[in-house]
Amino acid sequence: MHFISHDGDGNSSHALRCRACGSSNLTPYVCASSKGMTAAFEDCEYLFHRCEDCRSLNEFSEEGSFYEKEQDTPFMNYYIDIIAGLDEMLAPIGSYVDASRSTEGKTFLELGCGFGFVVDYAAKCRGFQAAGIEPGGYGRLGQQYLGADISATLLGEGSHHDQEQFDIIFSSEVIEHIPTPKQFAATVSRHIKSEGVAIFTTPNAEFITPESPAAEAYSALFPGEHKILFSAKGLSLLLSKAGFSHLAVKQRRSSNLIAYAASSPGPIALAEAAQSGNATTYTREYLATYRHSALSRTEKISRLGLAMHYRLFKDFVNNGWADQAIDLLLEMRPSFRCEVDPGMSFTIPTQSGERTEILHEMLCLCGICLLKESILSQDHHLPYPAGSIAFGKTMGFYITTVIHQVFKPEPSTIIDSAINYLNTFIDYGMWLRSSRRADYHLEAISLIGPAVASLFLFLLKAGAAIDKKRYSFVEEPWFRVDHPVSYDEIQTHLNINRKRQEQIQPQHPSPKSPQPHPNNPFRRVIERLRK
Ligand SMILES: [Zn+2]
Repeated sequence: MHFISHDGDGNSSHALRCRACGSSNLTPYVCASSKGMTAAFEDCEYLFHRCEDCRSLNEFSEEGSFYEKEQDTPFMNYYIDIIAGLDEMLAPIGSYVDASRSTEGKTFLELGCGFGFVVDYAAKCRGFQAAGIEPGGYGRLGQQYLGADISATLLGEGSHHDQEQFDIIFSSEVIEHIPTPKQFAATVSRHIKSEGVAIFTTPNAEFITPESPAAEAYSALFPGEHKILFSAKGLSLLLSKAGFSHLAVKQRRSSNLIAYAASSPGPIALAEAAQSGNATTYTREYLATYRHSALSRTEKISRLGLAMHYRLFKDFVNNGWADQAIDLLLEMRPSFRCEVDPGMSFTIPTQSGERTEILHEMLCLCGICLLKESILSQDHHLPYPAGSIAFGKTMGFYITTVIHQVFKPEPSTIIDSAINYLNTFIDYGMWLRSSRRADYHLEAISLIGPAVASLFLFLLKAGAAIDKKRYSFVEEPWFRVDHPVSYDEIQTHLNINRKRQEQIQPQHPSPKSPQPHPNNPFRRVIERLRK
């Protein structure tokens, strides 16, 4: 990205008008390329103009419609496997409904609902008559997998909802894609009941400054896809012109806005009272509902069901509920085994019963997912994981956390597998980082930091030395930005932990180095794949 100085490299473009407020007082502000976070002005593909009246950012290049692009299958699989951003999707609806009274008989419509998780949540957990509109391929899949009421024809363009009005219309991360956002908002306003509310979320233009973290600013700009980034002022102006007389526009976080728009004061008072702090509770409730309905329907958990179970597993681990987490793993095991490698058969060497066995086997399966994904991505340059279950890679990471919670001390075979797994996980993260794509970079940074801390803890528990050269990247600036700890700080922290542990269990001798168990299946697979 290249920010343009005021006396600088571009001229004002008088023929263009701000999509938010209609002003022609626009100046070139930031250049971006679809290739990533390039710094050179020559690489500028998308020029964002800032409106000097409302501070919104406009991008005017001619491109095909957002809705015309059909998403590819590997990406859709990836999307299903990780169900990214579920907390953030459910929070606006959950918190608004918590603040309001009964939802019985009320209607809910989501525009640009994607796969339809929010529509499904509104129907199953909140009692709405809920529907969604999604012209892209996700909509068809969501209808098929979730059984949600999703149609493809846009509102006001022949949709079977054209004659209806709704209690809530929700549109999350959609309006910034549309070249004519005022028309879109006006259509929404015509379909809201007099006591109803429209809820929009969208990136915040004021977040895009030279001081903002570059990767996050780049993902908010999403060059080539986003036509406008609104300021709070610009969004308020646009929504009032579109016919809404009562508004509340707030920052959800620094990079994102949420707007409540209505034609009466009641819904806005509710919006002001809505607390968004319960996002994980809404998600947990939704996933638990899905889990029970999925299990009552069928013995084998579907790919989507596995993803839902994974999200719930992660939530249990984050709350320290190890027993519930292991119960979930037991439910997932047969389907996960089958999904990872239908032809595979191996036995886990086990010494101490069911919990050791299940954690060990699931960790090995996750390691195999990770290896398959690395190899497929590197050898075939696949943009997104296609050949294995994407969530397997992070599920393994959460399993290493459960291992700490369950065993005191951990069995040596599990320590060995965890070290293998975490090393592979870090290698994979480093490869993602080196691919120089902005979205990969963000993912890599969020993977590597926690994995390093966990790995060092396992190495210490195994009594193994930490190879300072191999992990020298912990001193590099990119690592320190998100994880403000140096190698020595991590060491000090872990040494304190180890001393504390030794005081609790002075009689337990640590082994000298991690000796791979000869029958460790993960080890065997690594050797097989690396030949
Ligand atoms: Zn403007």
